Amino acid sequence: MKKFKFQIVCIDCGCLAIRIEDPVKASREATVYCGECGASRGTVGALRDLAVQTNPKVPTRSPPPSKNGLTSYDRTLVEKFRSVTANYSVSANR
Ligand SMILES: [Zn+2]
Repeated sequence: MKKFKFQIVCIDCGCLAIRIEDPVKASREATVYCGECGASRGTVGALRDLAVQTNPKVPTRSPPPSKNGLTSYDRTLVEKFRSVTANYSVSANR
């Protein structure tokens, strides 16, 4: 029994590339081959299931990181956190 339904990375050559013969017409039972060494990596159906699993409904596109590694969204959070903690330390500072 196989542990995995689909090999994202080829266990033979470690390549990520895949090859599907006639992907437009390929059925779920069609075999997906390694794009490098041609080993069987699973079925088209398993690949599609995997794609659905790894792509939740929320958009996965994240803003590009800025120079210090923080996104503008992160910076807004940091500023909010700082203002909150500043207020807190003032009130806690009897
Ligand atoms: Zn391979």
